[in-house]
Amino acid sequence: MKVEPRFGPGHRILVTGGAGFVPSHLVDALIARGCTVVVLDNFVTGSKDNVAHLLEKPTFTLVEADISEGLPTDHPALAERFDAILHMASPASPTDFEKLPVEILRVGSVGTLHLLERATADGARFLMASTSEAYGDPKEHPQRETYWGNVNPIGVRAVYDEAKRFSEAATMAYHRSKGTDTAIVRIFNTYGPRMRPDDGRAIPTFISQALRGEPITVHGTGNQTRSICYVDDLVRGILLLLDSTETGPINCGTEHEMSMRELAETIVSLTGSTSEVSYITRSADDPEMRRPDLTLARELLGYEPTVAPEDGLGRTIAYFRERLGY
Ligand code: NAD
Repeated sequence: MKVEPRFGPGHRILVTGGAGFVPSHLVDALIARGCTVVVLDNFVTGSKDNVAHLLEKPTFTLVEADISEGLPTDHPALAERFDAILHMASPASPTDFEKLPVEILRVGSVGTLHLLERATADGARFLMASTSEAYGDPKEHPQRETYWGNVNPIGVRAVYDEAKRFSEAATMAYHRSKGTDTAIVRIFNTYGPRMRPDDGRAIPTFISQALRGEPITVHGTGNQTRSICYVDDLVRGILLLLDSTETGPINCGTEHEMSMRELAETIVSLTGSTSEVSYITRSADDPEMRRPDLTLARELLGYEPTVAPEDGLGRTIAYFRERLGY
């Protein structure tokens, strides 16, 4: 299936969380297409630095606001109709689950409702960034979109998993009851430049530790797996879904499934580090395995990831070397 670009020059797109890691790459791609992009971000986990190169562009506006409080009514960039709204805002790393539990619940519930109301009023396409965490610690492998998941509703990760599941339910409710043009993407572990070195996710943690020559701290036995996706591949998948008329949910990621031990060893080798791998206590409800079934993305969107892990990790290491001054 070939999806033709639906959004380009003259189209106004709102991206919540646009100063974050994944969303800032998405914003770059939308700007490159000629879209007019408004980013709304409260910088709770994102940074102005990620969009600093866009600030002078006439097609780009940055609005500092918390979407959980609703869309500001006094900003001219938010007064005009949007053609598409991408709800990417949410803290997303394991350290955030502990530090920002209520903020995560709010942005994935009332935040989502505010944006669904606006998308419905504007007749805009609404795309919601969901997650493989919606599958919890999965009993089905690889995970297909038809799998309902295995989530502990009261665990430490629940604030994130359940907020995203609520967002999905809300998105489908607006689609069914109000005819809102909606799309849900379930994003699997994505990495690349602009991740925070200290955000607690495996790849930035291992790279920072390897560059500093510190022990690489792998949780548990290191046999748990993740399928890692370079950010450019994810952005291409999200844009294909945005351009399509599909509702989803559709998985997006890669089938490069690796154990955490293998990932640590690959990073040590790619950085040329002398770091040893050390094993520390595993966090509660950490999923045992993760791999998307990409059949729907392939059949409905013509999606195919192209970046090999060594290549993507190499580019990410180069970014961290520069950022950390090694
Ligand atoms: P990130 O923390 O770098 O980006 C999130 C952005 O949202 C940040 O800029 C943050 O300041 C902003 N934000 C958070 N709460 C907000 C609020 N209330 N109002 C306005 N802005 C707010 O994280 P990321 O990894 O780039 O993730 C982006 C999106 O993709 C998230 O919705 C996340 O759940 C989803 N996702 C990411 C991954 C991944 O592997 N990176 C996997 C699954 C899903």
